[in-house]
Amino acid sequence: MRNVVIIGSGCAGSTAAIYTARANLNPLVISGVEPGGQLSLTTEVENFPGFPEGILGPVLVENMRKQAERFGAEYQYGSVIEADLSRRPFRINVEGDWVETRTVIIASGASARWLGLESERQLIGKGVSSCATCDGRFYQGRKIMVVGGGDSAMEEANFLTRFGSEVALVHRRDQFRASKIMLERVRANPKIKWITNTVVDEVMDPKREAVTAARLRNVVTGAVWEQEVDGFFVAIGHIPNTAVFKGQIDTDADGYIISHGGARTNIPGVFHAGDVQDRVYKQAITAAGAGCMAAMEAEKFLEAEGH
Ligand code: NAP
Repeated sequence: MRNVVIIGSGCAGSTAAIYTARANLNPLVISGVEPGGQLSLTTEVENFPGFPEGILGPVLVENMRKQAERFGAEYQYGSVIEADLSRRPFRINVEGDWVETRTVIIASGASARWLGLESERQLIGKGVSSCATCDGRFYQGRKIMVVGGGDSAMEEANFLTRFGSEVALVHRRDQFRASKIMLERVRANPKIKWITNTVVDEVMDPKREAVTAARLRNVVTGAVWEQEVDGFFVAIGHIPNTAVFKGQIDTDADGYIISHGGARTNIPGVFHAGDVQDRVYKQAITAAGAGCMAAMEAEKFLEAEGH
């Protein structure tokens, strides 16, 4: 029987692990399919306090893990495929092995949303990317396309102008969800070319195992054309990793966990931390803070139950 099982090993999960380990609760951290979370996919992190020269994302999460392990946290590689939170002890199925625990901290994050095209899937890592900070520098002096109309797309398009010879911003409407300030920044950037009311029908060319062009379609005029591109970045939001808790944990329509105050979910003894609940800030430092909150709530809960 575990005191604490932490689902997810990103900034939120590992911070919760540091705190619960230091409280002698011997937490078990289930690493998930993306160990280290979003930070493991980034390069330089310049806004995490305490690192005046910046730090590489993968190094930062690895340090957090080592820090947690030093106090007795255990990390287990694998994914949660099922969870029974209907009674205590809670039961968590990690790829076929059931683990029993008194408390659960859900820090399973949010994964990038894709367009859903087969050609897009085949070219992920071969010119198709969901992370400008990770892959932007591969497209020095080349043609880049960014899909999306929210703040993420604006941020990525702007950032990618550091590398690309041009950045085409493709959005399916002519209205944008992005905030005014971000839109203005993009509008003021001469390297960015707007392509609105347009969807992507195909990314080419899976046969050549590289991105060579995108087939675009204007949804107003019906015009279809192929546009040459080398780097294809999808920035259409994220999907919180809550599918395994469906029907048990309260979520909003998009699947983000609804907070019941602090780090509490609708189930006493089950807590949330990080991007799985946060659709606004999504920062390493806010995720770390949320991990700390969840850990302190779990400690308090266990203490009240006499453990
Ligand atoms: P978002 O605001 O949900 O925007 C997603 C965009 O992708 C929308 O323009 C949407 O188009 C488009 N989209 C969704 N599915 C699509 C599909 N299948 N095909 C084509 N387009 C599709 O997501 P986000 O930009 O990732 O932002 C998420 C949150 O993080 C927001 O609250 C944002 O403010 C915040 N954020 C802030 C910053 C910052 O301030 N620095 C940076 C990044 C993110 P429609 O509009 O037509 O639905």
